[in-house]
This record gives sequence, C-alpha cells and structure tokens, in this order.
Amino acid sequence: KVRVRFAPSPTGGLHIGGVRTILFNYLFAKHHHGEFILRIEDTDQTRFVEGAEEYIYNCLNWCGIKPDESSRDGGAYGPYRQSERKATYRQYAEQLVKAGHAYYAFDTAEELESKRQVIENFRYDHSSRKHLRNSLTIPHEAVESLIKEGAPHVIRIKMPEDQHISFTDMIRGDISFNSSEVDDKVLLKADGMPTYHLAVVVDDYLMKISHVFRGEEWLPSSPVHLLLWKYFGWEQEMPQWAHLPLILKPDGNGKLSKRDGERFGFPVYPINWVDAKTGKRAEGFVETGFLPEGFINMLAMLGWNDGTDQELFSMDELIEKFSLERIHKAGAKFDYEKAKWYNGEWIKRSSAQHLLPYVKQVLNHKNINTPHDDYLLKVIEMVKERCVLLTDFYDQASFFFTAPDKWDTNAVKPKWSAEKEAFFLAFADAIKDKNQLESTATESLFKELAAEKGLKVGEVMLPLRIMLVGGKFGPQVFDIVSQLGANEVVYRINNAVE
Ligand code: GLU
Repeated sequence: KVRVRFAPSPTGGLHIGGVRTILFNYLFAKHHHGEFILRIEDTDQTRFVEGAEEYIYNCLNWCGIKPDESSRDGGAYGPYRQSERKATYRQYAEQLVKAGHAYYAFDTAEELESKRQVIENFRYDHSSRKHLRNSLTIPHEAVESLIKEGAPHVIRIKMPEDQHISFTDMIRGDISFNSSEVDDKVLLKADGMPTYHLAVVVDDYLMKISHVFRGEEWLPSSPVHLLLWKYFGWEQEMPQWAHLPLILKPDGNGKLSKRDGERFGFPVYPINWVDAKTGKRAEGFVETGFLPEGFINMLAMLGWNDGTDQELFSMDELIEKFSLERIHKAGAKFDYEKAKWYNGEWIKRSSAQHLLPYVKQVLNHKNINTPHDDYLLKVIEMVKERCVLLTDFYDQASFFFTAPDKWDTNAVKPKWSAEKEAFFLAFADAIKDKNQLESTATESLFKELAAEKGLKVGEVMLPLRIMLVGGKFGPQVFDIVSQLGANEVVYRINNAVE
C-alpha cells in the first residue's frame, strides 16, 4: 500500500517549494490509490511559530488537497504531531544505546564551546569523542549515576568510521556517502525531545510510510537516516526516497527563497503570511488573484510534465498522469509570467458559476456591492476572457456596478459637437422606456438614429463606450448596454453630456 507523508516543521509560512513537495506526494499517493499523511514535526520548540500549523492546513484546504490522516483528520497511526509522541522516541533512542549504536553525551554547552575554540573545525565524531564526556569514555557506573542524578544529557548516534553508505534515489539514481563525512548527530535532546533525524525515521516506520518525497536539501541527512533504519533492525522495508529538485530563482541563480518574493515583486507564499516577529506581510497567490486550479497547474509543471505538449491539467488529470519517471532531475526556474498565464487559462476554462464566489470577494473587497448573482454571472461571462488574475475582474467589470466617475474625455471631446450631443439625447430618449435592451436590436436602433442625424456610426461608437465604461476597454458595447439596462444607460449618457 502506498503511504506518503508531508512532514512540515511549523517554523514559518510555507513557501511554494513546500507546496510543490505536498503536491508531488499527493499526486503520487492518489495515482496509486494510496494515502497522503500530514505529520507536524514540531520537536524543535525554539523554532516554533504560532499560527504556522494552521497556515499549513489553510494552504492545503485552498489547494483542494485533503490529507487522509493528520492531526486534524485523525487516523490509525496518530498522534500526528511529534510533540505529542515524545515518550515513544526516548524508548527507541535507548534501544540504540543498548545495541551500541548510540551513546549518552554529557558535555555542557560551555564545554563544547571551549573545544570549538581550541580544535580547528571541531565536530563531535569518531576523532573527537574520546576527548569528550560521554558513555563511550566514562566508566559504566559513573554513567549510571549521572543518569540517576538527572544530569542533563543528549543521545548521539555513533557514526561508524569510513563506511560506505548508499541507496537508490527514485529520481537521482544511486547515491553514496562515506560515513566519516557525517558527525555524531544528536538523536535525543536534553529536553527529552527527539531531533528531526530520530523522529523522522521512527515515525516513517511506525506510520508505515512507503515512499518519501522531500526537498533536495534533505539529501545530506539521508546517510544518518539510512544507518538508523539499519541499526533498528526492523523487518519492515525502508521507504523509497525521492529528493525533489529545487525551484530556482527566475534567473536560475540559486534556490528560490522566501525573501525573493519581495525582491522580484511576485508572491512566493500560497496565502498572505505575516511574520509575527517583524510584522512584515508577504503577499500570497490567493490575494494576488490566483485560482487554486491555476496555482496547482503551474506548480505541477515546475519540475514535471507528461511527455507531451499538454500544459493544462486539472487535479484529476494530474493524478491520472503523474509519473515519477517524468520528474526532472534539474532544478526548475520559477517564471511568474508563465504562472499568470496558467491562471488566465484557468479563468477562461472555468464556468461563471465556479468563478462567482471568487469574483464576489474581489469586488466586495473593493467596496462594490454585488446584489444579484444572475447579473454578476452574466458580467463574469462577458469579461472572463480578458482576465488573467481574479483581481482583474475589478478593472474589467467595476463599471457594471458603479458609474464611472471619470471619463477619458480626451477620447471624446476634441471632436465633440452639438450634433453628437443631440444624437445621444435622442438615443437616450428612444430607449428610456424599454424594459429590455436586446443587444442586436439596440445596435440597429443606434445605427438608424445615427444615420438619421447624419452621423457616421464610427464617430459615436467610441463616445458611447466611454460614457458607459469610462475608458476604451471592455466587451462589445451593445452587450454592455443590454446588461446595464435602460435606466442606467440613460443616466450615464446624461451624466456625460452635461
Ligand atoms: N520536517 C522536515 C521539514 O521541515 C521534513 C523533511 C522530510 O520530509 O524528511 O521539511
């Protein structure tokens, strides 16, 4: 059974790299009719950030990704928050000490600091541990009494010297390390909390995880995890790992970072994220006007394709087509213009009904009241082709709800004349009592009237648009007339002519 997990540490807002990791985990799981688990890795309490866990759930929810098991959804392998599994980890760490693969270390922070001062490139490993205070150097009885006294201590893995460690990554192929490159990582901290290394291995085991997709930055940790699996001697097979290539800055110059949003002027967080310490707000894709469909599609294509020219995929299609083999090995450059293109395509593909709640929110946010859904649905249908971001609906459609208070008069007035004014007043008069202004019929009426007054249609068409819209944009002008209705059109003509 395929079981994957996304295991964020709630230390801040989740940026798009994290969401792509979620997405690839999810697509792989669902493609194989497996389960997607969300596990909160909150054992580093010094880095805990209030609200970060909730933020992760909000992002998942907006993306339309529902975990099968999580701290909110429950499940048979809980608890899914590591801080609530504390007792479990100690037991496993002790097991390794007994087997001789781990040891207690009693060195205080000051002691370690003083070693760092005198030994160049100091690290806690096979070369230095003999000079330090730990259960490999202190007599057994002394260790026992230290533990009894409650002396602060950590448990460290005893990394072997000069051993070849290798595994096959699902994306990158064979990877190997020399154990001497890695120090004796702490497994259990003095506060009794596990470190990431211990917790991730124990939980992947206990939660029966079959495949792990995680960022490339975790590759250097993999030898420690491999040895832990080996030392625990579990029968269960180790999960298969895939280390996902990075999302790169637009210029390809290094990893896209959380700070790049501000630097390049585009969002890197799914939803607005406010840094509690600095109060700084980073703009999200949601607030910028992305549809979840556009965002997900864009994200999936950052490092994957189906091998054809197809670029637009719904979540269901992605699930159906997703394949490990087509994940790229190289990093993927983030391209904001392309991201917007995906979104525009998804706005075009979406029904007005689907867009309704989003557009309502955009307009209401700008203090525009949208009383009738029927009216709004027609407006959406008319302008959605012209919108790339949901926020464009404001610029493209606000005139359907509020009369323009400014006119692009330059576009009208230079050639303005008493004849034109008379024509518009006559047109207003001709339509004022009509309940319905059908688009083509009104166009004919407009043209006939223009001919009667000896005016060319071309001379009065643009002024009409500007009176109604305020500028030289928008859908077909008689569709606008029809939508606004007689009262409003007459009102706007009078307003403009005055
Ligand atoms: N807690 C780690 C993180 O914050 C999880 C890494 C992993 O998936 O092993 O990304």
